[in-house]
Amino acid sequence: MANIIDGKAVSASVKQEVAEEAAKLREEKGIKVGLAVVIVGNDPASRVYVNNKKKACEAVGFQSFEYALDENTTQEQLLDLVNVLNRDDRVNGILVQLPLPKQIDEKTVINAISPDKDVDAFHPSNVGRIMIGDYAFLPCTPAGVMRLIESTGTEVSGKQCVVIGRSNIVGKPMAMLLLHQSGTVTICHSRTKNLKEICLGADILVVSVGKANFVTGDMIKEGAVVIDVGINRLDNGKLCGDVEFESAEKKASYITPVPGGVGPMTIAMLMKNTLTAAKQQNGLM
Ligand code: NAP
Repeated sequence: MANIIDGKAVSASVKQEVAEEAAKLREEKGIKVGLAVVIVGNDPASRVYVNNKKKACEAVGFQSFEYALDENTTQEQLLDLVNVLNRDDRVNGILVQLPLPKQIDEKTVINAISPDKDVDAFHPSNVGRIMIGDYAFLPCTPAGVMRLIESTGTEVSGKQCVVIGRSNIVGKPMAMLLLHQSGTVTICHSRTKNLKEICLGADILVVSVGKANFVTGDMIKEGAVVIDVGINRLDNGKLCGDVEFESAEKKASYITPVPGGVGPMTIAMLMKNTLTAAKQQNGLM
């Protein structure tokens, strides 16, 4: 039976570190860290994410500025707001919650955020820096996964690492972070042949597909570390991951649950990036 990786506990320790540093910045330098969160429209899942980010800001002692814009907001109006926030000294990080309504081009908006305030690390300049290993901001979800792997005491160097999924926000940067730690990385996607065979070779398996119970125990190598990024809502309303937990935990040495695994880490790493942004903008890094 696998050890369950407690994402809530690991994320709490990351947030604790951030809160302590933020308090020090406030007391010693008079700097109050600020995160602006922009939401456009009424998507219920986005609303939950934004509320969680606001709560996390409060918990670590950041100021949060919420901008809730109407569903019919034009791209120009959103870009105007981003430009105002780029110039606002109280705002160290800017997060525009995705997805955006159809009339707005996400790429144009991401490109408009100042790379220094791009705490999601989605701006092409930050993505490029991740590629060359010279990053200011780590992409939140992959960085959270790295922290979870570290919490198991597993050394990535020399390990066979398999990432299923090649999204820009998870799969690709995930592969890069594993590579930077000298893992031997294979990226799989919907055209991959022999997926089961490839997975069976994985010492570390990271799954970000978005299909409930996609990876089953018979695809997992005995003793592998299994990280499930997927968040899927079943017809009965329950959340589940991309990995079939019951069969997988019989094979893995460590496994993340859903919920309570990667999810809480993403927000904790966002707080960490916002703190980094504040330090950089104040010449402290
Ligand atoms: P995505 O953009 O939804 O793309 C899914 C990826 O899975 C694609 O690369 C796709 O391949 C691949 N895929 C689909 N079917 C496959 C198959 N049969 N075999 C192998 N690969 C297959 O990915 P995402 O944005 O990374 O999201 C994935 C999941 O993670 C979602 O459930 C999302 O909600 C969750 N998520 C969680 C967090 C968190 O904080 N925990 C953060 C982000 C995302 P192609 O490229 O070939 O189409």
